[in-house]
Amino acid sequence: MIPLSAPIDVSIELTARCNLHCLHCFQPDDRKYPALTTNEILDIGHQMAEMGVFAVFLSGGEPLLNPDWSIIGSVFVSLGLTVGLSTNGTLITLETALKIKELGLYKALQVSIEGSTPRIHDAIRGEGSFEKTVRGLDHLAEVGIYPNIAVTVMKPNIHDVPNIIDFALRRNLNHVHVMSLMPAGRAKKHFQKLDPSLEDWISMEEVLQNKAHYLKGKISVDWGNRRYLPRDHGFSEDQYTEVDRAFTGCPAGKSKAVIDFGGFLYGCDLLKYENICAGNIRQTPIAKIWNSSSAFSDWRSRTPESIIGKCKYCKWLFACVGGCPALSIADGFTMHHSDPSCPGPVNKE
Ligand code: SF4
Ligand code: SF4
Repeated sequence: MIPLSAPIDVSIELTARCNLHCLHCFQPDDRKYPALTTNEILDIGHQMAEMGVFAVFLSGGEPLLNPDWSIIGSVFVSLGLTVGLSTNGTLITLETALKIKELGLYKALQVSIEGSTPRIHDAIRGEGSFEKTVRGLDHLAEVGIYPNIAVTVMKPNIHDVPNIIDFALRRNLNHVHVMSLMPAGRAKKHFQKLDPSLEDWISMEEVLQNKAHYLKGKISVDWGNRRYLPRDHGFSEDQYTEVDRAFTGCPAGKSKAVIDFGGFLYGCDLLKYENICAGNIRQTPIAKIWNSSSAFSDWRSRTPESIIGKCKYCKWLFACVGGCPALSIADGFTMHHSDPSCPGPVNKE
């Protein structure tokens, strides 16, 4: 695999604190180490700019709870980084909205909504949170900002996802990012109760695909950590180049990295396990960790050839590379084991 000299995108947690306590949060509850200072975060920004990171997402916890979020955003933007912000939207006052506009953070601004009504959203994110998030969206609209909406699909909201797209349309928002629930952090405790059935997931995908097709030009729908299903990737294996292979399959440690609030570097938000942590930025520069950590080099050795289990027999292995390793790891297997949630394989002819 061709190694990239820097991750394309990096999420950095500005805090572990959050004003909500959502059922499906993928952050672990038990992280009790000291948080990065603002100066340390700014230094990481300089390091990322120097190594050529393209996009940085400010996340958390709730990133707006870091009192220096706007200083950090402003310095990162001045360094030439494309900066996004991922928020629950409840703390966005008119003043915050104006600040987001002034700093240019609206270009990749993502607000989480789990339901089109207070009943559905609040059952997941907590009493009163829908109203506060909608107020935040109102303030953003007042200053001409129309963020992306992110929705995590669970049993309590799976039938409401098309309504969330309508909700976004009514508010002139033009992008909805759909993600599947993942067994990480707090969500792991509730996973069995919240994870939708495969049948419900497949019918929701069909509904959304039709809806997205019908609404083309008005709103776009994309998938984050989509549940793996055997899909026609539209290529044959012999059309895949070395470059395609570098960008195929799980991007963790290949083109994506996550820095937690204490400076620990991981491949993905769902992989915050001590034994696959790549290092800590307090001790080692990010470029050195990216280029020489054994965790990331193991990650890059996750190729179609290394995958163990049922995916070996799947005709889409070359394009899918065994699904999402966070699911195999959550089930006690290694990153090289097949994604247990996928109903495949589709047998090779
Ligand atoms: S069986 Fe494995 S390779 Fe095939 S689609 Fe499912 S996760 Fe991907
Ligand atoms: S582990 Fe890999 S495939 Fe799974 S959500 Fe993270 S980046 Fe995506």
